[in-house]
Amino acid sequence: MAGAQHDLVVIGGGPGGYVAAIRAAQLGLSVGCVEKEPALGGTCLRVGCIPSKALLESSELYAEARKTFGRHGIKVGGLDLDLAAMLKRKQDVVSANTKGIDGLFRKNKVARYLGHGKLDGPGRVVVAGGDGAVTEIAATRVVLATGSTVATLRGAEPDGERVVTSTEALSFPEVPRRLIVIGAGAIGLELGSVWSRLGASVTVLEYFDRILPGMDTEIAAEALKVLKRQGLEFRLGVRVTAARQDGDGAVVEIEGQDPVRGDRVLVAIGRVPYTEGLGLETVGVKVDERGRIPVDAHFRTAAENVYAIGDVIAGPMLAHKAEDEGVACVEGIVTGYGHVNYDAIPNVVYTMPEVASVGKTEEQLKDAGVAYRAGSFPFMANGRARALGHTDGKVKILADAATDRILGAHIVGPRAGDLIAELAVAIEFGASAEDVARATHAHPTLAETIKEAALAVDGRALHI
Ligand SMILES: Cc1cc2nc3c(=O)[nH]c(=O)nc-3n(C[C@H](O)[C@H](O)[C@H](O)COP(=O)(O)OP(=O)(O)OC[C@H]3O[C@@H](n4cnc5c(N)ncnc54)[C@H](O)[C@@H]3O)c2cc1C
Repeated sequence: MAGAQHDLVVIGGGPGGYVAAIRAAQLGLSVGCVEKEPALGGTCLRVGCIPSKALLESSELYAEARKTFGRHGIKVGGLDLDLAAMLKRKQDVVSANTKGIDGLFRKNKVARYLGHGKLDGPGRVVVAGGDGAVTEIAATRVVLATGSTVATLRGAEPDGERVVTSTEALSFPEVPRRLIVIGAGAIGLELGSVWSRLGASVTVLEYFDRILPGMDTEIAAEALKVLKRQGLEFRLGVRVTAARQDGDGAVVEIEGQDPVRGDRVLVAIGRVPYTEGLGLETVGVKVDERGRIPVDAHFRTAAENVYAIGDVIAGPMLAHKAEDEGVACVEGIVTGYGHVNYDAIPNVVYTMPEVASVGKTEEQLKDAGVAYRAGSFPFMANGRARALGHTDGKVKILADAATDRILGAHIVGPRAGDLIAELAVAIEFGASAEDVARATHAHPTLAETIKEAALAVDGRALHI
């Protein structure tokens, strides 16, 4: 049992953990990071954000070549799908990213421990490697960044083959003829879009009577219209009671309705915090009713010198939220100050068109009784969107009726995920809609829709 000592040990090498480790090292701490998987980067890099976006990009190019190249006057003969090559490219993108983290750890002198990390009383972390080796680390402080895992639906437990999670749905060996997706959240819609573009007939089943629960209702309804037009089938307001393998396919049972059959079923109903075998009890930390580690505003758990960040604590399960918490947590430890503005965390769904939001939805403002003004602008009226041939969707900005301060912004449209950054910065800076409206936006760009929506808050959009 070899011993080691660090000022800070981070358990979990996902976007929360690895970023916390790098920032702590930059601030002069001796840092160790424990990760049980051979590749660093967590859910996000290995089986989440990055591989899904690689497939979304490839499948979108394929769909464009099939459906829209002709409109640009480009004739493509003999177009064919090489799924194995597409999956290999995805894996290459993942590897390049995960290896990049190894490089960043070397550069910043973060010690990397491969194995399952466990708290073993105050100031001690034990790492059990796959080879049976056990390493004991003395840690002045510990950051828990163990992330999340897929939520399962009782009666629809994944079998890894026909009833699967997002991880398997990133690597189907062939395009399913019929894919059933349970859950119309970001992951279900993104992976449903990937396989639909590649030729699968996709049916999305959702418990709520809308898609993208939690996002702005009007924007989600607009996204639904476009996705339906692309060929995805939606059955909303249905309760799935079971899903299982059935012959060489799968069957999904729905309360009060006929069962639905497909080649494969993707269960995408959300994610739950992951704390298995973490030894929380050895330091007296208890998880809450939803399995999350409770923390205060400085990411301190109930145990002295033990902190937690990312998907394993409350808040949106997003990579950039985890990263910013990692930075704020260690800056708080070293400098005494660290802060995350939860009102300015963008949320993006990478369908085509993308759906993006930041700040409050219209429903939240109504519920809170806040008087607001809304301004929106359609991509149809934007020259660049027309040139791109992507004119679906709109930008909507919500501003305080009295002060004009931007409270929320919601976009469905081309590159919405990139466009939302401007409005996240605007909210962060406490900008008014007029501030954004008066800023010069390059022409012709998609970003002009943001300026126009900001003008529309005051009823004076120019191009509509
Ligand atoms: C298909 C999919 C697509 C997604 N797309 C997006 C997206 O586009 N944008 C976005 O913002 N978010 C996306 N997410 C969510 C995003 O991946 C997570 O919010 C993010 O990874 C959370 O970061 P984290 O560091 O808290 O946890 P994780 O990334 O889950 O990392 C935790 C790490 O800790 C390790 N670990 C756990 N316990 C131990 C232990 N005891 N010892 C050692 N190691 C341990 C795990 O192996 C893991 O590597 C997606 C998720 C999925 C599944």
